Amino acid sequence: MHETHFKLQRLADGKFSATLASRMGEMLGKAEELFGPRNEKAATFIGIEFHDAVPQLHFPTPGHVIIRLSLETLDDLIRAQYQLAHEVVHLLSAERGLSAPVLEEGAATWFAQLAIGRPTYTSCPKYRHAATAVRELLTFRPNAIKELRAKEEGWFRRISAQTFSEAGVTGVSQELITFLCRDFYLWGGAREVL
Ligand SMILES: [Zn+2]
Repeated sequence: MHETHFKLQRLADGKFSATLASRMGEMLGKAEELFGPRNEKAATFIGIEFHDAVPQLHFPTPGHVIIRLSLETLDDLIRAQYQLAHEVVHLLSAERGLSAPVLEEGAATWFAQLAIGRPTYTSCPKYRHAATAVRELLTFRPNAIKELRAKEEGWFRRISAQTFSEAGVTGVSQELITFLCRDFYLWGGAREVL
């Protein structure tokens, strides 16, 4: 296990190494800069834990949320950062019981790729399609997600085609809007029209 995930280590220049907590602070700041502030009504973050399954948010008690990373991240710093960056985007509007739209999963995947500087670890085509669609949106309009979330009190899940027009995010194809607003988990994985 990487002790530096949790334990401060003094470096040669007298400063301390980054732990997962300090890395997460930087990620959260960057995610808010790109996608808008964390929703104040979202569940309160209470810690990171590791489990033998895929990374996810876990809501142990009402109003609280834990980030769960997969076991292999204990020994793999880059994978830990990748998974953490992805879950940090979900923290922006963490809400128990509802699944995420393609827009949110794509933003989380795109942001994780940005955090480690390369599109790795995403072997699932669904996540890759979602990230590509978000990249298309942000290339066209870099502040689009921030503008859309601002119209829906910060909730990713409330963003609809109507939100795009209300936020003035125009000039985006109807196909892309429909795709981004789809429920990620119910979607079969193929993007019919590109
Ligand atoms: Zn996700």
